[in-house]
Amino acid sequence: MPDDTLTEEQQTALQVACDTEVSGCLFLMRTEENDRDRLLEITRDHVRYQHGKDYSLEEIEEQHVTEVEV
Ligand SMILES: [Zn+2]
Repeated sequence: MPDDTLTEEQQTALQVACDTEVSGCLFLMRTEENDRDRLLEITRDHVRYQHGKDYSLEEIEEQHVTEVEV
């Protein structure tokens, strides 16, 4: 019998979606909660290179990062 015991732990992940509906950008990224810094840096680079806009990590975190349950 396979051991399919379910764990009741609620995992939280971080998700960021590029907020550029006008350009039709579909950038969406999700990481583990402890990978927050990497998520912010990748998103910052994406916005800079793809959209030519500079956001600080703080701005991205405040405005675009959402916590989701996985
Ligand atoms: Zn984008």
